[in-house]
Amino acid sequence: MAVSEQGLAGNRVGGFSAIPVDARPLAIEAKGLVKSFDGTRAVDGVDIAVPEGAIYGILGPNGAGKTTTLRMLLGIIDPDQGVRRVFGHDRPHDIGRLIGYLPEERGLYPSMKAVEAIAFMGALRGLSLKEGRKRAGELLERHGLGHAADRQIRQLSKGMAQTVQLLGTLVHRPRLVVLDEPFSGLDAINQGKLEVMIRALADEGVTVIFSTHVIHHAERLCEGVAIIAGGRVPYAGSVEAARDRIPAQVRLETRAREGAWVAALPGDTRRNGDFFQFSLPETGVEPLLRQLIEGEAGILSLSIERAGLHDAFVAIAGEAAARQLEADTQGDRA
Ligand code: ATP
Repeated sequence: MAVSEQGLAGNRVGGFSAIPVDARPLAIEAKGLVKSFDGTRAVDGVDIAVPEGAIYGILGPNGAGKTTTLRMLLGIIDPDQGVRRVFGHDRPHDIGRLIGYLPEERGLYPSMKAVEAIAFMGALRGLSLKEGRKRAGELLERHGLGHAADRQIRQLSKGMAQTVQLLGTLVHRPRLVVLDEPFSGLDAINQGKLEVMIRALADEGVTVIFSTHVIHHAERLCEGVAIIAGGRVPYAGSVEAARDRIPAQVRLETRAREGAWVAALPGDTRRNGDFFQFSLPETGVEPLLRQLIEGEAGILSLSIERAGLHDAFVAIAGEAAARQLEADTQGDRA
């Protein structure tokens, strides 16, 4: 069942979904987007709502439909069905100057100097070349690439060139930044720098939407995610609400191995070495603790861990999609 929890700030109290309290206007609103290629549905009814100022992730394995979705949101391709609005406009091209887009296929003119490449990208979004060069110099300086301003793109490392392209995406100061797999091809240090840049944009009120097949980028950065698999979005909403779909896990270590108290452990309890593991009961852990104490189980340790986005992804998109995501991530490292 497709479930949408569009109120990103909506929280859960005592297991009930509170009324969404998010009153921010939407930067992106898409309903029922469908796109087929050669008779095959690449995107099959996608709903997304991204409030202004949010960092939002489109999370799914390769081939799931992320790029196609982003291209429809940007107006690069038109949906076969459905509507999308960006800042309230249903023709995103009309507001191209408010948008910065980093496509999945990276590419800058190899003979251009870094500063010129950034200014050129700004010019494509309506910025004068003079202002673009000035801002390019400042941006390169701020991101530790001042020394590379007059170097040709072909003389830069891959990570540096990718940063230059990203700065070119931002130079016209867009209100919405769309990044297609921005972390792929970056080493861990540059990935960390990119996370900092994305957070800084959001702090300035810029809306950022990015696609990724790496859960921890989405988990660390995003307020909201759309989980996409096979062209469908089985979940769109806050990361927190996705995590709350799965009960927290209890890990219990006891001195006694057996006793009448064992019967009080929940039905899904499994033994893992010295530990018992089970889902946190709806009544909380306190009634169980009483029985463990009365039964002299001898509690050595007890931890309650909230589910992560990975567990939520498995529960929402299924084991097969999660395995594919893992394989894609391994592929990045190879
Ligand atoms: P990746 O990160 O690998 O690009 P993705 O989630 O972005 O994956 P899409 O690029 O949106 O996925 O592709 C979704 C499906 O649509 C794939 O099966 C792909 O082969 C197909 N597809 C995308 N664009 C086209 C096109 N222009 N013509 C034909 N098929 C396409």
